Amino acid sequence: MTPAESRVRRLLTELRRQGVGDARVLAAIERVPRHLFVATPFLDQAYENVALPIGRGQTVSQPLVVGLMTQALAVGERMKVLEIGTGSGYQAAVLAPLCRRVYSIERHRPLLAEAEARLRRLRIHNVTCRLGDGSRGWPEQAPFDRIIVTAAAPDIPPALIEQLKPDGLMVLPLGDVGGIDQELVRIAKSPAGLDIHPFLAVRFVPLVEGLPEE
Ligand code: SAH
Repeated sequence: MTPAESRVRRLLTELRRQGVGDARVLAAIERVPRHLFVATPFLDQAYENVALPIGRGQTVSQPLVVGLMTQALAVGERMKVLEIGTGSGYQAAVLAPLCRRVYSIERHRPLLAEAEARLRRLRIHNVTCRLGDGSRGWPEQAPFDRIIVTAAAPDIPPALIEQLKPDGLMVLPLGDVGGIDQELVRIAKSPAGLDIHPFLAVRFVPLVEGLPEE
């Protein structure tokens, strides 16, 4: 086993120990080379269970959080998934082998361009990204089986609830935008309404409305 392989092994063992039991999710994480998604100064930490900077004040989530969010999303092979906050493209790359297509929205143009380049390089062809304010969703592609939001908001953006299929699931960090006191929640939509289930205390960057000035 090479040193890189043993680092990946160690990370997967850690994720399993902390509750990521879904074999498909673990296999997807095993296959995505996270070192391609982090900035050079942080290469040596690419397979540590830590969030890392990706530029523009943003971060790629901790692998455990990616694992637990992906698992909570219960993605099926034929599903259409919407991601808000493309960032580095790492979460989208993990979702790609688990579903039919991922649509991902990012508000920072340079991050979006870098993420698209990484996905191309890895020959991941079922992820479509675009620039925009993800809190409005992607109406042209709606409805979605699953929606994952990787930036925190105090409330669930109404457009995302509308664009979720009647029996769809959404996973997102909700809470204080200052960064403390956020929780990951899984939301199940049904004719009876929304069933909201918190499952992990987290700290995400904020979901910001509109586009940055360039
Ligand atoms: N899923 C990413 C995590 C990136 S951090 C990854 O795997 O790397 C969250 C990202 O959400 C940031 O890149 C940030 O710019 C973006 N973001 C914040 N608010 C947004 C909005 N309203 N619309 C789209 N993207 C947004």
